[in-house]
Amino acid sequence: MKQRRRIYEGKAKILYEGPEPGMLVQFFKDDATAFNAKKHDVIEGKGVLNNRISEYIFTNLSQMGIPTHFVKRLNMREQLIREVEIIPVEVVVRNIAAGTISQRLGIEEGTVLPRSIIEFYYKNDALNDPIVSEEHVTAFGWANAQEIDDMMAMAIRVNDFLSGMFKGIGIELVDFKIEFGRLIENDTMRVVLADEISPDSCRLWDSSTKEKMDKDRFRRDLGGLVEAYTEVARRLGILNENEAPRPSGPTLVK
Ligand code: UDP
Repeated sequence: MKQRRRIYEGKAKILYEGPEPGMLVQFFKDDATAFNAKKHDVIEGKGVLNNRISEYIFTNLSQMGIPTHFVKRLNMREQLIREVEIIPVEVVVRNIAAGTISQRLGIEEGTVLPRSIIEFYYKNDALNDPIVSEEHVTAFGWANAQEIDDMMAMAIRVNDFLSGMFKGIGIELVDFKIEFGRLIENDTMRVVLADEISPDSCRLWDSSTKEKMDKDRFRRDLGGLVEAYTEVARRLGILNENEAPRPSGPTLVK
């Protein structure tokens, strides 16, 4: 098979040249990283699960009118996406305190926030993705005021949809991170949802047991990551028995 041109390799995904201009193939790796890649491991089956879960979420979001880069899933590990110019800002939405907001503001993990809070982080590994304000985003030209409005409006809609979707399957959506890109279509530029939405980029707690079903299992050395992601996919009803990833090698003990 002809070697495809690799456009970009990130921590958990690779982007390849697509079948036609303006299209890319997004490949989900099994690599897990945390703390700005200081912690790294390969967790067999993670990429397959994130590809399926992200496909499911992006498909539902586009059905409710949120523009995304997603076109279709191609196979177990790959999806066809539209090429966008990624806005170098990570948008985090929080419903319950956990992770860095708990550390930064001294709020006990699990505290329900007075309302959903949107935060911006500057995507820059060398700087450890620092938290920034809207002022920084516009002053340094990472996004303009209209783009910030668009990102915030979409982030709220994504949060409303995801919170309800997960609540319906006994999961609390604690927080999540999304990314946006600029898409040029018929001479106009618009902001669309990009990257992925998966248990790698969300905090998901079982509603009754509060057990973590997300990447914190890796960050905090809890084990059982593939089992937890599989359970998320199973509850979403997207796990085809025949395609269930079977992790080989040592099984993680909970
Ligand atoms: N997050 C992410 N990528 C990042 C940073 C954060 O997907 O580079 C997600 C993370 O999984 C969580 C939310 O954004 O769902 C908020 O993360 P937080 O700021 O608490 O930082 P973390 O504890 O992940 O370092």
